[in-house]
Amino acid sequence: MSRALSLLDLARPHIRDLKAYPPGKPIEELERELGISGAIKLASNESPISPSPRVIAALAAAAANLNRYPDGSCFNVRKRLASHLGIKGESLIFGAGSDELLEMLVKVFLDPGDEVVYPWPSFAMYPIVTTGMGGRRVEVPPVEGLRTDPDKLCDAITERTKLLFLANPNNPTGTCLGKREIERILERTPERVVIVLDEAYAEYVRRPDYPQSLDWIGERRTLLVLRTFSKIFGLAGLRLGYAAAHPEMIQLLERARHPFNVGTLAQVAACAALDDMKHVEQVRDLAHRGLRQLEVAFDKLGLPYVPSDANFVLVEVGEKAREIDANLKRKGVIVRSMAEFGLTRHLRITAGTPDENERLIEALAVELGR
Ligand code: PMP
Repeated sequence: MSRALSLLDLARPHIRDLKAYPPGKPIEELERELGISGAIKLASNESPISPSPRVIAALAAAAANLNRYPDGSCFNVRKRLASHLGIKGESLIFGAGSDELLEMLVKVFLDPGDEVVYPWPSFAMYPIVTTGMGGRRVEVPPVEGLRTDPDKLCDAITERTKLLFLANPNNPTGTCLGKREIERILERTPERVVIVLDEAYAEYVRRPDYPQSLDWIGERRTLLVLRTFSKIFGLAGLRLGYAAAHPEMIQLLERARHPFNVGTLAQVAACAALDDMKHVEQVRDLAHRGLRQLEVAFDKLGLPYVPSDANFVLVEVGEKAREIDANLKRKGVIVRSMAEFGLTRHLRITAGTPDENERLIEALAVELGR
């Protein structure tokens, strides 16, 4: 092959424009790089504790059957989850993480040049899946307090808009819209625009007016609610997400789904996780106590933060944010720099165990000289 050949030139034009998703560094990788041990990760909004013991036992038992392909229909987890959510099994589709469902959505709905509207900053996969399909990104900036304004979002909808992504609560801001505000968006968005309500952090929300969005999927065929087993169910390493929507919408998405997209272990683990809601309660409680611990510490350190409805918090550490992020990593404390989101003064910190939070707080205080 000629040396002059650039593989990039072979790629479709919008793939050339794409940057690969920069994930939070795994603990092992950072430890290897820096020659340290005992690092902690507060960077990817995961549960800080092991999955339920029931999950671990179910996984061990299922391992002997891994010579077989998984159940492509996700029969057991569909049944179990439908009953947990109080909806019909035919209203669900599963993906290898909700990431895969975002991919299916753009594959089904986007033609090159079509527009996708979403608040920005938000989940990093929205621009990636949009650009990857040749779509046009329409990014709506936040208002005061890094909140999303429903009307500003709807004002950005045009004739070319195909999809609207809305993370509620939003990542990385941790802000959340209430029922009235979501209703306003549903009212103002033409039915031909597919609304994707991404509720990856729904189970952490405490505000009483958080919408019961599943109640709406029977009424509006172009509304999808995305959820995941990666966060409160503690299964990020297995990759299982789902969308709930009108059965007609589900059937359409099924056309873009690979037959064995969700592995056996992910299905088995999800069923076992749904059987241990006490463990889910424990993860939720840990997140809420962790947020409180972080907020008290930020107040003491004089650091502004955005009150969070999720399991992470966006904190403003000032112009040295990048340097602080790098120094924390050197001390084995992995948090998420926000520079790529245009938030150059902020860090996003996932609530960890009390000990992990304390270690972060101490390291941060040293960095700030306080
Ligand atoms: N949506 C949002 C808002 C997220 O923050 C995340 C995870 N970072 C996801 C979706 C994807 O989760 P997963 O693919 O692990 O289900």
